[in-house]
Amino acid sequence: MAIEAKLKLNQLDEKSEQIAEAIKTCQQSNEHLMVTIVAGYTATKLIETRKIPDALELLHTHLETVLKINYPPVTSRYYSLLSQAYFLNNESTKADSYAHLSLEMSVSLGNNESTLEAYYILFQIAEARGDHQLALDYHKKYAAADKAYLDDVKTKHLAFQLAQHQATEQKNQIDLLDKQNKLLRVEQQLATTEAENNRLFISLLISIITLLGFWAYKSWKTQQRLKQLAEYDALTKVYNRGHFTQLAEDALKYCASSDIQLSCILFDLDRFKQINDNYGHGCGDWVLKQVAQVCQAQGRKNDIFARLGGEEFCMILPSCDIQTALKLAESCRVAISQINTADSGYDFCITASLGVTDANLSGYSLDKLTADADTAMYQSKRNGRNRVTVFSPQGEQMSLDALSSAHL
Ligand code: GH3
Ligand code: MG
Ligand code: MG
Repeated sequence: MAIEAKLKLNQLDEKSEQIAEAIKTCQQSNEHLMVTIVAGYTATKLIETRKIPDALELLHTHLETVLKINYPPVTSRYYSLLSQAYFLNNESTKADSYAHLSLEMSVSLGNNESTLEAYYILFQIAEARGDHQLALDYHKKYAAADKAYLDDVKTKHLAFQLAQHQATEQKNQIDLLDKQNKLLRVEQQLATTEAENNRLFISLLISIITLLGFWAYKSWKTQQRLKQLAEYDALTKVYNRGHFTQLAEDALKYCASSDIQLSCILFDLDRFKQINDNYGHGCGDWVLKQVAQVCQAQGRKNDIFARLGGEEFCMILPSCDIQTALKLAESCRVAISQINTADSGYDFCITASLGVTDANLSGYSLDKLTADADTAMYQSKRNGRNRVTVFSPQGEQMSLDALSSAHL
């Protein structure tokens, strides 16, 4: 096909290497039909360039093979070319018979170039013979065949153009799909990157939250420790004096405003100095812890229990009348006296002297309440220790006097 195209475009001539090579290649591959086709193209060129003897020789060389293969389009073509060559060689009889042979062969082929050429030769022969009627007939047939062949060529051309457009359209569609595909890939990559970023962000967030949580926990722990240090007595773990004062003031304010009963118990361990002196300071500390523990166990949740200093403790009892406070003081006294000192490694007795008062007797002032409870406590000391005394305003003067004289 390339050879046919190049011959028609005058890019090759009948002597070109490419033609010889094509014929050789086809012969080696036993493609005999192809050999005859290529030879047919060459013969066409030879006829065009009026090298008639060469054309006739070439056509006759391959005619036997053509007849053997018996492929109508090629056979018809060969007959048509022979007819043309003989006509140009002024051998009209042969030209006439080959033209008829070509037409016979073309019957089943539809519109083709060979039919067209055969009719034209027959028209020319009839015209040369002066048979105008016959010449006219052949020319009409030639014209009809020419038109039909042209229509075919046009149709093929249109079909080719259509196919070309379809191919272009398909290519465009493929390009479009390709672009869409690329877009989707980019979108997918973007989504993957986004997901990755989200994961990173979430990890970062979790890390920050964990760190914040850890930091919050640490700071809460520190706060707790500081609170413990600020509010509690380090040895006995009950409230210290400072915090006790704050809580007691609040409770007093509330009870005073709501006219609620409130009592106060104050106590001091008896001859505690002797315990320190006899069994050591460590043993004294142990006693203080035990006393705090057993007394706290006697009280209620709302009671405010504190170590005021040394071996002196105080309880503020909101919503508690003097009788109940007295009972509580008595149970504290008993609990202290029943502490088993064997755990300290020594055997001795622990006792305490307690003083009790309430808001009815002393009012809702913390200083007055503790001072009166202290007075009552000193009365207990004076009366022999290990006992509970309720504050009495009459006895106050007495006990203070007694205390002054004892100190003097
Ligand atoms: P009284 O019955 O009259 O109260 O006699 P007392 O010996 O208990 O009284 P005093 O006030 O003379 O002695 C209190 C002692 O308590 C003196 C001090 O060394 C001791 N003390 C104070 N604080 C602590 C402490 O935290 N630990 C120990 N082990 N002893 C303490
Ligand atoms: Mg004391
Ligand atoms: Mg004491």
